[in-house]
Amino acid sequence: MVTRADIGVIGGSGFYSLLDDATEIEISTPYGPPSDVVTVGRIGSRSVAFLPRHGRDHRFPPHRIPYRANLWALRSLGVRQVLAPSAVGSLRAEIGPGALVVPDQLVDRTSGRTQTYYDAGGVVHVAFADPYCPAGRKAAVSVAGASGWEVSDGGTLVVIEGPRFSTRAESRWFSANGWSIVGMTAFPEAVLARELALCYTSMSLVTDHDAGVETGEGVTHEEVLAFFGTNVTRMRSLVGDVIAALPEERVCPCGSALDGLKLPFELPG
Ligand SMILES: [Zn+2]
Repeated sequence: MVTRADIGVIGGSGFYSLLDDATEIEISTPYGPPSDVVTVGRIGSRSVAFLPRHGRDHRFPPHRIPYRANLWALRSLGVRQVLAPSAVGSLRAEIGPGALVVPDQLVDRTSGRTQTYYDAGGVVHVAFADPYCPAGRKAAVSVAGASGWEVSDGGTLVVIEGPRFSTRAESRWFSANGWSIVGMTAFPEAVLARELALCYTSMSLVTDHDAGVETGEGVTHEEVLAFFGTNVTRMRSLVGDVIAALPEERVCPCGSALDGLKLPFELPG
């Protein structure tokens, strides 16, 4: 029975399960319970923990997800590398539905979310110039390309507060800034991962063009879920292949992100 894991996967909208022969683990954290029970099992030779970001019944909207509990729970199970598949809207005409974007930058347009673990017991400023793990990105891009995905290596993911979608003006503004995709959950997830010295890699599946790029009525949640539903098998198999391609020993800078900082707590796991 596997009860610890090296790799964590946080599944987005429509992505509610990953592992076949898995152990369910209920975890409590100083930040309350995570979105759901964590399932732990094996994919090939790697031990993997899976957590559905919105809960298996999709009960948490993006602004109510217990982000701090989720990352803390994964780290306390031993996880050091996190893959984050999610559904996003495209801000670029040339990136269409079905494409995979592996962003290298992030813009935070959320408001009112707790975005740090370091809110008591001392001042800590973590570096976040490069929010994503270079090794995880490399694995995701090369594996997706080799499996025939249309893949964008790099790009900026702008994270909006939600739960509403963008107005056309917002969407055009994001696009005019040169940003590639828009989502609702990659922040504060990415920064919380950094604050726990975890590797974090976003694997963003484009489900639609955002309001400013397309000409119809704009995106609906039903359309996003339906699209993700038809692509979830493909996405699950890609995540499995990327897991196999992740380095066993971390060679990226993520694990030393907190070196020299005086943390207000002891890191779990
Ligand atoms: Zn890393």
